[in-house]
Amino acid sequence: MDQLRASGLVTDYRVLDAMAEVPRSEFVPPAHRGAAYDDVALPIGHDQTISQPLVVALMTQALELQPTDRVLEVGTGSGYQAAVLRQLADHVDTVERIPALAEQAAEMLEELGVDRVSVHTGDGTLGWPDEAPYDAVVVTAGGPEVPPPLLAQLADGGRLVAPVGPRHAQELVRVRRHGDRTVSEDLGPVAFVPLLGEAGWPAA
Ligand code: SAH
Repeated sequence: MDQLRASGLVTDYRVLDAMAEVPRSEFVPPAHRGAAYDDVALPIGHDQTISQPLVVALMTQALELQPTDRVLEVGTGSGYQAAVLRQLADHVDTVERIPALAEQAAEMLEELGVDRVSVHTGDGTLGWPDEAPYDAVVVTAGGPEVPPPLLAQLADGGRLVAPVGPRHAQELVRVRRHGDRTVSEDLGPVAFVPLLGEAGWPAA
């Protein structure tokens, strides 16, 4: 947390407080626990990673969450970011394409007593239409574009944050919806595992 504060990039103290509340070590496989509080991404199995804490902080900050917000996360992974998001919002739906990861994440969230996070298995590029619209949408895997279904599920005044670009290097993009209009901003370069699915990269 000191590293995040020292970076000077995380200016929203609520985000730092939220991250201080969630034990990242619990979401990291035992073999990597020694590095759980280093500012690095770590493997969680199935070729996937738990994101670097600074990136989690910056994405969470960019969502400008309010306590009443309903949030959609695409790419549950370990469940860590979902737990952080829940600290700052009312409810989180999170979608993971790899069933074993979704299951593990749901178990850990339950073990830690994190309520109002619903873990779903499926193709998150299609969003979660049953519970839409969302005040905030965050995509934690890199796709070729912002998946159109996610924009369609963004509430008026809502914010979406997603890594967008070629497979090995993306730009973090924030999109705000104002009625029928959307406004995009570029938040800087990032590198994420690929978003695989119908509105992402081909999965096969
Ligand atoms: N937010 C996670 C990090 C996720 S890594 C955490 O805090 O640990 C990205 C995750 O996105 C991986 O688990 C990957 O399987 C998942 N993913 C990739 N494409 C997806 C899709 N179309 N729908 C849902 N999840 C997807």
